[in-house]
Amino acid sequence: MTYRIGVIGGGQLARMMVPPAVHLGIEISVLAEAEGSSARLAATQVGDYHDAETVLRFAKDVHAVTFDHEHVPQDVLRALVDAGVEVHPSPEALFVAQDKIVMRERLTALGLPVPAWATVRGRDDLAAFLAEHGGRAVVKTPRGGYDGKGVRVVRSADGADDWFAALGAAGASDALLVEELVEFRRELAQLVARRPSGEIAAWPLVETVQRDGVCAEVTAPAPDADDALSDEARRIATVVAEQVGVTGVLAVELFETTDGRLLVNELAMRPHNTGHWSIDGAVTSQFEQHLRAVLDLPLGDTSPHRAWSVMVNVLGGPAQGTMADRLPALMADQPGAKVHDYGKDPRPGRKVGHVTTTGPDLEDARGRARAAVRFFED
Ligand code: ADP
Repeated sequence: MTYRIGVIGGGQLARMMVPPAVHLGIEISVLAEAEGSSARLAATQVGDYHDAETVLRFAKDVHAVTFDHEHVPQDVLRALVDAGVEVHPSPEALFVAQDKIVMRERLTALGLPVPAWATVRGRDDLAAFLAEHGGRAVVKTPRGGYDGKGVRVVRSADGADDWFAALGAAGASDALLVEELVEFRRELAQLVARRPSGEIAAWPLVETVQRDGVCAEVTAPAPDADDALSDEARRIATVVAEQVGVTGVLAVELFETTDGRLLVNELAMRPHNTGHWSIDGAVTSQFEQHLRAVLDLPLGDTSPHRAWSVMVNVLGGPAQGTMADRLPALMADQPGAKVHDYGKDPRPGRKVGHVTTTGPDLEDARGRARAAVRFFED
């Protein structure tokens, strides 16, 4: 037999599932939003993932359906399950990742540490929260945000008026999420993968640097993470994976507070930017592990190859030309850098690729990754 996987969404995450699928002899097909998607290297169909018939037709002959993003509507997910399709993660699990208020409710119910939060519907609610939390807060739109879009620091009750005005419109949420502005020492991420039959594998805890709400750099493992911190991160991710029933890769974004606690920021139920280092830095990458997990195959070894891996995103890309134009110079200068070009048109701020370096010395690996990315930046 041949394993067949269908991926909904044609972004770089779907694209990066292709090489391990090729290696393992898995047939991978992608339902992309448009022609010329980042995942166009796979067998790609173009169709609207909001349309149940389109998605059912796409899923007809695959062993499992999985995702490049979390935006497939619940009714479409349910139609797949009702038609007998293996959907991983399940609609019930994805429901928790699709709405930040649902996520906060669920994490709180599970007794996991999260920033202080509330739902707010207008200025009075926001004023009350600000009064209780030192006059500063973070307001978030519950759905559809990514890369910091839909996240705003507010210092006065009128700071989210435009978002309040949009509440209740067709398809929109009826409340916003407000959180304490966490004083964090740094941001961390814990990735795990879980099979439907229950096996879980975790990668080392990593440190992430966000710029303007966008992941810029990841260091694996997180420097100066003692056993207590690493164990707590792994415990949190395991509780979420098991209690929410996540299948495939789960990313838990965390804040390490200035007083040494871990708080959960966000969950993502798919391969995640903070796990890209694992392609070049770990025995089993997050993309291979995701394929194995959603097919309910035994999980791979997550050990790092080297002491340190550093991943730096290419944000925006070259002002002129393409990443490919810059490759010869980069390759000559940085022979140890592993370049990943997502095949996307350069645009300010857009994630168009990343570079990973590995080695025995953190400062050296970091310096080489940053130097490599600079070739794509002007
Ligand atoms: P997105 O869905 O766009 O990834 P997040 O909720 O992860 O949005 O927020 C993006 C970034 O904003 C975080 O990585 C963090 O740097 C900052 N942030 C989010 N929530 C808080 C908070 N409660 N306190 C402090 N910073 C926050």
